[in-house]
Order: sequence, then C-alpha cells, then structure tokens
Amino acid sequence: MLNHTCVMCDEGLLIKKTVIDNVDFKGQVLKVPNTHLECNLCGCIELDNEYMKVNNRALNIEKKKALDLFTGSEIKEIREGLRLSQTEASAIFGGGKVAFSKYENDDVIQSKSMNTLIGAANRIPDLLPYLVSQSSLSTSPKFQGDYEDVYLEEDFNPLVECKNRPSIFVVEASQEFDSGTNGYTELQCDDAA
Ligand SMILES: [Zn+2]
Repeated sequence: MLNHTCVMCDEGLLIKKTVIDNVDFKGQVLKVPNTHLECNLCGCIELDNEYMKVNNRALNIEKKKALDLFTGSEIKEIREGLRLSQTEASAIFGGGKVAFSKYENDDVIQSKSMNTLIGAANRIPDLLPYLVSQSSLSTSPKFQGDYEDVYLEEDFNPLVECKNRPSIFVVEASQEFDSGTNGYTELQCDDAA
C-alpha cells in the first residue's frame, strides 16, 4: 500500500490513516476507529475491501460492548478454556458451521441467547458435557469419559469457586465415567455450612 498513487488526482500518494468516528447506536454514541487511505494531495479517501472488513470488525466490537455481549477475543478465550476447536464449538452451540470463526473475528454479532449459552458453559462446569451429548459430537471419542477431567483440572478449581460462592454445590469429575451422571459426582463445599 505504500507509495500507492491516488487514482483521482494521479499525483498524490495514498497514506493509511485511522480516525475515530462517532457512531449513533441504540441511543449511545460509539467511538469506532475507521481506517482508510487518504491522498496527501487532493484529500480523496479510498477504501478497499480489506479496510472495509477491518472497519466493520471494529464497529462490531463496539456494538458488542454496548450490547453487553462477549467480544470476539472473549469468545475465543472461553472456547479455548473449554478445549474446543472452532468447528466443535459451532457443532455444540449452533449458529452454523463457521459461526465461531465469525464471532471470534467480530465479523458477526452473536445473538443474546447464544451469548448466554456460551457464558453459561463457561460458568457451569457440567453444562458442556450435556450440550455435547445433545450435539452431533455425542459419539466423538474426544468427549467420552475423561474429557471433563481435562478441562476441569486446568480451568476450574472447585474449592476456589466454593469460597466465593459458599452456598452452592460444586461438581467434581469422578475417576470412573458414569453415563448416568455424565461423569460427575456432586460434592458439598466444606465451607458451605
Ligand atoms: Zn489525490
């Protein structure tokens, strides 16, 4: 893009420029970065497909924040914490085959209900095995038996959770997978009483 000559005046150089636009959105004013090429001679603005994509993503990020929805990077963090690929997450949560790629790139704003489901799977440790059991991945070897142990060990510490929320029951992955309980045994926190 450097030294790209302006097509309008055929003399000036197009320089990459980012400005902050004020965008009205549902009664709020969003500050959204807008990147484009501007001629240093005639001031003409050129937008190619790549910049339009970048600008649309920047706008979607601000809209997600305004709507109190997860941004793309937050969804990616949750998905990786659940040890899911984008394809697996799309199969489990819905939204179409490439839904999570679109959510995480901020090409698409997820629905409120999708957002709630993703947030619930992140907060409630035995929700994911249930969602998997209802999905096309229910027979996938990855999700048989010990999958819960894998993500619970690294991302979820029942005792820490317990101290923060002393009145709740916590679940812990059992050694033997039990299809009747989805592999979990309910335990009560020591400090719950
Ligand atoms: Zn020009």
